Amino acid sequence: MSKNHERIHIDEKNLCNLCVSELESIYAELKLTESELEILSMPRRIVTVQFPVRLSNGSTHMFIGHRVQFNDARGPSKGGIRFHPDLKVDHVSDLAFLMSLKCAVVDIPFGGAKGGVVVNPKEVSRGELELITRAYTREIADFIGPFKDIPAPDVYTDEKVMVWILDEYEHLMREHAPAAVTGKPVGLGGLKVRTYSTSLGGIYVLEEALKKEGMKKSEVRVAIQGFGNVGENAARILHERGYTITAVSNSKGGIIKQNGLNIPEVIKYKRTEGRLEDFDTAENISNEELLVSDCDVLVPAALSDQIDQFNADNIKAKIVLELANAPTTTVADIMLFDRSVRVIPDVLANAGGVAGSYLEWIQNLSNDYWEDNRVADRLRSIMISAFNDVYATCEQDASTMRKAAFKIAIKRILDAERLRGNL
Ligand code: GLU
Repeated sequence: MSKNHERIHIDEKNLCNLCVSELESIYAELKLTESELEILSMPRRIVTVQFPVRLSNGSTHMFIGHRVQFNDARGPSKGGIRFHPDLKVDHVSDLAFLMSLKCAVVDIPFGGAKGGVVVNPKEVSRGELELITRAYTREIADFIGPFKDIPAPDVYTDEKVMVWILDEYEHLMREHAPAAVTGKPVGLGGLKVRTYSTSLGGIYVLEEALKKEGMKKSEVRVAIQGFGNVGENAARILHERGYTITAVSNSKGGIIKQNGLNIPEVIKYKRTEGRLEDFDTAENISNEELLVSDCDVLVPAALSDQIDQFNADNIKAKIVLELANAPTTTVADIMLFDRSVRVIPDVLANAGGVAGSYLEWIQNLSNDYWEDNRVADRLRSIMISAFNDVYATCEQDASTMRKAAFKIAIKRILDAERLRGNL
């Protein structure tokens, strides 16, 4: 392994450093000026708030929350809010930067943001979580809004949390503002398609990639790691579209059946049994075995750092569709590229989530609600045109799709800064 690989390896658990080497080479290739580098490396706004919440046992705890708006040259900042006991502002900032890139890759008129509260949602009651969310919203209310910064769900937050944020925000502003938050329930201006738009958007992109590789749907075997919202919806939609799903897993373990799992039955089984193992005639496998199982498409849809230098050479898939954030380490990315495995990077593959949010926001602002088919068609055209842009650049540069996607996003952000007269 080259010296360069070793240097990257030291930092590979860190999301920021995960793309640093990639970014450094892009910055050099694009011959960015000092001013351009400075614009791309500094968040526009970092808000950290500390606020008291009275818990149900009568004690008061000071909670910490962050919201980082990284770049808003292309439009209001956009990105999720997460609850996590180990949340650090630097990590939130890296994620906000990645959101800026993601929105630019799919060419939607948003900048990038991320936020969250330092809390373990499993250690507080639902009622306490509501108090924490509402207090956090009051603290950041001046900085968010339909034309400033629009939160959405992320790790350990869901549509209920979005309702608390929206309701608190609207009380403070003394007006309705459904476009201030996305990922809302359908009854409050949310879109049904948004609940599975991350998976659907990824599948639209995958189907374009399969065309380029000359692979026929009937011959494509897919293994999916992760059976939460994103993984389960990906399995369901791919099965409905006629693909063979050979393996699925969740954090506890997975199942494999080479001639195809009956996904609707697997979903029913998981709902009643609370697990995937011991399903029907399928064999039980570990997550590690799923990653290297015999398949054509591997979909990591769970955690980061799953494909690393230890298993990259054993991956049998020809295409890796990154529905999770950062599932492939930098070293593994290079190893897969060297073996001609096509990795469709997270900033493109899972951008259907934020693209779905964009369609929700448009409809909230216009009060004109579309049929599901129209939403899905629009999502499809956004994702396919992003795929084509990224594919053309990666073919031209003979680079990874990740590098191509970053390059496109950086150019778009800097163009917007130039148009504003900041460069
Ligand atoms: N949290 C999701 C993401 O990281 C969605 C963000 C959004 O819809 O604003 O892409």
